[in-house]
Amino acid sequence: MFPNDKLENWYKGKGHWNDIPDHEWYDWKWQMRNCLKSKHDFLNFMDLTEDELVGFDIANNKLSVAVTPYFFNLVNTADSNCPVRRQIIPSALESNVVSYEKKDPVGEEGSMPVPGIVHRYPDRVLFLVTDRCASYCRYCTRSRMVSNAQDYGFSPSIDIGLQYIEKNKSIRDVLLSGGDPLLLSNNKLEHILSRLREIDHIELVRIGSRVPVFLPQRINESLLNIFKQQKNLWLSIHVNHPKECTEDLFNTCRNLSDAGIPLGNQSVLLKGINDNSNVMKSLIHRLLMMKVKPYYLYQCDLIEGSSHLRVNPQVGLNIIHSLRGHTTGYAIPQFVIDAPSGGGKIPLNPEYVKDLDSEKIILENYQGNEYTYNFN
Ligand SMILES: *Cc1c(COP(=O)(O)O)cnc(C)c1O
Repeated sequence: MFPNDKLENWYKGKGHWNDIPDHEWYDWKWQMRNCLKSKHDFLNFMDLTEDELVGFDIANNKLSVAVTPYFFNLVNTADSNCPVRRQIIPSALESNVVSYEKKDPVGEEGSMPVPGIVHRYPDRVLFLVTDRCASYCRYCTRSRMVSNAQDYGFSPSIDIGLQYIEKNKSIRDVLLSGGDPLLLSNNKLEHILSRLREIDHIELVRIGSRVPVFLPQRINESLLNIFKQQKNLWLSIHVNHPKECTEDLFNTCRNLSDAGIPLGNQSVLLKGINDNSNVMKSLIHRLLMMKVKPYYLYQCDLIEGSSHLRVNPQVGLNIIHSLRGHTTGYAIPQFVIDAPSGGGKIPLNPEYVKDLDSEKIILENYQGNEYTYNFN
């Protein structure tokens, strides 16, 4: 898709907002103030399809619409199937709810000892610190609470979450998510990070954020200085398509890794967006160019009204099979399903073991050739 990819071919610039001075464009608060939210905001820049117009009408009761000007520039306004467009512009199909879809598709509500903390695994917790995002993904796992379109009223006490982590000495790893933690003010973030830094049993803090992708302007010097004080901070970004890898994202990732932060990426496998090997290969190669390790590829959760975006898990297995051996091992994410009802993340792998008995294992390599390994 992008043969001989070079940084100079990556998207850059202010696009529709060429007249806006740099000091505004690169101010994250300007971007947030100028988010596109209503159908009229979008109609100023593009035509919407009948399906999208209906999508706007139902979104208010489901998951709000918001897109930063920066990210909107990546939308191909002439193509209703644009892979960026379909992630952030609502569709009438969101009102199709199938029987096995749920408001809480991975059963988080059942594993919350205190509001905001999901404690599912023995040694680590997910800490939800806000319900706001810079832009809203139409397939959001937490659309029950994120943006508050469904009146969830998320307002956990951060200090109660911190106390829970302090008291539970088995927790060594805290994953901040939400919503998007990087939309908190520097003061609030610094409060959370410095409290976590003081807890002896916390070895690692991770942030899950799509802000570098939606709002790279937020990753400014003052935020990087806060990050640099952290002993061991990792960041997972969320890129689904190579178009999202812009020059601004490249620079942001460089700044983050220069601040000592290891970077990973989590993608969601989405129908018509990234459900083929060529797109996925371009994406993971661009990620490596940005020093980002592709971490997880998620089968899309069973969120209400998302069936138009889901594919058969076999598609994901085929993609992983097409990558293994054919490209850098570091580039290959782990394909997982986050199991319904709180089962957690379960890995899915193509089958390379053809037979295993007490004497030998018969293996198939990436080219489909068989090899026997004797051990007894
Ligand atoms: C994804 C997740 C984690 C982190 O899982 P890793 O496999 O360690 O990245 C922790 N807690 C919850 C509830 C999660 O959903």
